[in-house]
Amino acid sequence: AKADIECEMLVLGAGPGGYTAAFRSADLGLDTVLVERYDALGGVCLNVGCIPSKALLHAAEVLVEAKHAADFGIEFGTPKIDLDKLRGHKDKVVGQMVKGLAGMAKQRKVRTLTGEGRFVSPHELEVRTQEGVKRVRFAQCIIAAGSQPVKLGGFPWDDARVMDSTDALMLSDIPKSLLVVGGGIIGLEMACVYSALGSQVTVVEFMDQLMPGADKDLVKPLADLLKKRGVAVHLGCKVAKVDAKTDGLHATFEGASVPAGTKYDRVLVSVGRAPNGGKLDADKAGVQVTDRGFIPVDKQMRTNVPHIFAIGDLVGQPMLAHKATHEGKLAAEVAAGHKKEWVARVIPSVAYTDPEIAWVGVTETEAKAKGLAVGVAKFPWAASGRAVGIGRTEGFTKLIFDEHTERVIGAGIVGVHAGDLIAELALAIEMGCEASDIGHTIHPHPTLSESVAMAAEIQEGTITDLY
Ligand code: FAD
Repeated sequence: AKADIECEMLVLGAGPGGYTAAFRSADLGLDTVLVERYDALGGVCLNVGCIPSKALLHAAEVLVEAKHAADFGIEFGTPKIDLDKLRGHKDKVVGQMVKGLAGMAKQRKVRTLTGEGRFVSPHELEVRTQEGVKRVRFAQCIIAAGSQPVKLGGFPWDDARVMDSTDALMLSDIPKSLLVVGGGIIGLEMACVYSALGSQVTVVEFMDQLMPGADKDLVKPLADLLKKRGVAVHLGCKVAKVDAKTDGLHATFEGASVPAGTKYDRVLVSVGRAPNGGKLDADKAGVQVTDRGFIPVDKQMRTNVPHIFAIGDLVGQPMLAHKATHEGKLAAEVAAGHKKEWVARVIPSVAYTDPEIAWVGVTETEAKAKGLAVGVAKFPWAASGRAVGIGRTEGFTKLIFDEHTERVIGAGIVGVHAGDLIAELALAIEMGCEASDIGHTIHPHPTLSESVAMAAEIQEGTITDLY
């Protein structure tokens, strides 16, 4: 069949990976088409992920801080929550960013095509648009179709009270009781939001710690605060099934510590995300897809078919927006003829919970498991004037060094703004910094960033007694 549209570069999926790849391709002179099934560009991250969740977390933070203010003599009354307005605020934030992306696409003359795409050959994609099926012929392609929430079996998914992260972000009401299944980053972020809004939240996690990718000590201050705020956490516990009844969702648990109550107004299932690689008829293009739906790529983001690249959540863990963006840029540059490959040493992870938890590079748990000779330096925020001043001393900054070279190879921070603070340590690891490089760098006083320099000085032995 004849193609309706021809292009040098086709990008499939307009999430952070896809739009970055499309914009970079266009900037490098490739005639680019961006295919996205939804009207809005931005993918999961912008529409139902990073951005709306952070808008709601900000509201939660304000509620919590307003309560804290009583400690230093400022009391507000009981907060009144106008849910429509809060939802409206979140939608406005997303809308503004979506509009910005549309403008950037237009400016670069990236042609966007709205509809679901499937491969029909190694050089053709069929897109089901509202005006019928369009056949796009491409010289090169970047697949950026992302991921979606895992729908666990044993849950009545046809009942609106059972939610995935997308449903939870819709904020249709503030349930009296909420069961969060899965204590990873997304589950705990939503637990913070709903708990601050007034829901009685119960979190159930199958593993023996919350946020299993992070070091246990890093998670403890969050676990302690959640408990203080009345969030019930059950570790080593599994939800076997949930029955939808008119009086609530009845959960059956198995495991080490099971909740006393079993009836909830709503259930949020946040047990991970599954890649969309298996839904694109990629085999018709000759592209290999694993049984789980991931698309294997090399260091240049090329699939087994040399003119087809893949990036973002569907090429593997960690499923994070900044990884997708980085890969998107790389794939576009390689497609445009640049001699480049993936060289990132580390990718930071951040949970925007309250307090935030951020880590990068080797964790202490990994170092132990691998038998690495490491030095660990920890600076408790109780010794930071800034943390004391804002009443948030529960945090700490931990640096992990190679014992022989003194180079920093990992870091973990828990506390307010940990996500912003971790960037310095990603740079330190990328640049091969030694403890003294960080210690000798003058950090502004009084900031939480000083905790990074202090930890490095502890490692160097410059500080033995905290002052
Ligand atoms: P996606 O964002 O998944 O985009 C893929 C796009 O492809 C989608 O728009 C989809 O509609 C489209 N698509 C798929 N198949 C087709 C098809 N056949 N035809 C046409 N279009 C198609 N990450 C962070 O780094 N920081 C955070 O704070 C953070 N918070 C999150 C909070 C939540 C609640 C969730 C769910 C995720 C969060 N993430 C966060 C993860 C982040 O959203 C993803 O890592 C990121 O969106 C991946 O980008 P991507 O480009 O690979 O794919």
